[in-house]
Amino acid sequence: MALPNRPIDSGPLQRHTTRSVAIRYGSKTVMVGGGAPVMVQSMTNTDTADAIGTAIQIKDLARAGSEIVRITVNNPEAAAAVIAIREQLDKMGVDVPLVGDFHYNGHKLLSDFPECAQALSKYRINPGNVGQGAKRDTQFAQMIEIACKYDKPVRIGVNWGSLDQDLLARIMDENAQRADPWDAQAVMYEALVTSAVENARRAEELGLAGDKIILSCKVSGVQDLIAVYRELARRCDYPLHLGLTEAGMGSKGIVASTAALSVLLQEGIGDTIRISLTPEPGGDRTKEVVVGQEILQTMGLRKFTPMVIACPGCGRTTSTVFQELADRIQTYLRDQMPEWKKQYPGVENMNVAVMGCIVNGPGESKHANIGISLPGTGESPAAPVFVDGEKKVTLRGDRIAEEFQAIVLDYVKTRYGSAVVNN
Ligand code: SF4
Repeated sequence: MALPNRPIDSGPLQRHTTRSVAIRYGSKTVMVGGGAPVMVQSMTNTDTADAIGTAIQIKDLARAGSEIVRITVNNPEAAAAVIAIREQLDKMGVDVPLVGDFHYNGHKLLSDFPECAQALSKYRINPGNVGQGAKRDTQFAQMIEIACKYDKPVRIGVNWGSLDQDLLARIMDENAQRADPWDAQAVMYEALVTSAVENARRAEELGLAGDKIILSCKVSGVQDLIAVYRELARRCDYPLHLGLTEAGMGSKGIVASTAALSVLLQEGIGDTIRISLTPEPGGDRTKEVVVGQEILQTMGLRKFTPMVIACPGCGRTTSTVFQELADRIQTYLRDQMPEWKKQYPGVENMNVAVMGCIVNGPGESKHANIGISLPGTGESPAAPVFVDGEKKVTLRGDRIAEEFQAIVLDYVKTRYGSAVVNN
């Protein structure tokens, strides 16, 4: 059969956003939109009034790779603690920008605690929770004026769990006048998008520059999120913060977030992401950062950490040795990254294969920078290691894991230890 006259297209589309927003803390600037890489955000779940506990969690999130961290500022105690949190972070050498999440009383907290307003790098305003009736416009204006005064960007963050009821009622009334009214779902979509875009325009009318505005419109259904963000991207060119709200726990939360975000990111929609996972009791909050990074990295949009390619195992391997080795290497690589990314530029491009038997083991290992093919059931107890496609050594015995880890470290030092950034 003859070759077609064009190659198969690959890779994600261009980002849709032309505007960009700078989020600053000290000498650090995180750019969002305008062709900048998609940023990973997270949010604390500590009591913000507990300044030490919150600062420690922010440090953990930043160390895991969160490029922006949001904290709730829900009462005077929390607002008063923001300065102490920032000071504690400075002492720990953590310069991640902090975003204050405001609802109901944000206008008052930002007015009453000017140090808090100054210390935060961005404000999140939920237009559905700013106030009702006549107070709504005044309180929204108050927050925007404070953002202008302190030169802070704002995210207008709509959420369908707290949609502006006056706006929804207005859109429902307008819909009822149509000859052929839309269904309830279409009305909800329209209300979400309208709330975000109208409030952004209002903020600009109040004096906030267009390059200080980020929008989000979070919902908890995958298809709903895709529909709403496609429309939001059509109607504006503000950078968009993307996230499936209330994604849920465990694999459900991860799969739902990945399904929704992947479609949109592939279409060039989304400039920052947050994965809203419900942690297991006592679980690690940094998981949401790891999942966000893995979505972007597996899509080829960013590089954060060396990737481990591991086979799923099957009846040809009946021991857990290769699962334990894959887990050990993956954890080891991620744990090293905060230091490695400073010492070994380019190491995030590395691929490591950990394979269960001879069927695909040597082949997959040769494609990786470093690969090990462990012996399957009935195979000779030897594990060939491949480096840059060539068989380097065969490991045997009880210390295969330790020896393989040492080979990985040696490779990292040799290949990425120079000033030249290798692929
Ligand atoms: S590499 Fe071997 S053990 Fe792993 S899935 Fe393939 S056949 Fe099974």
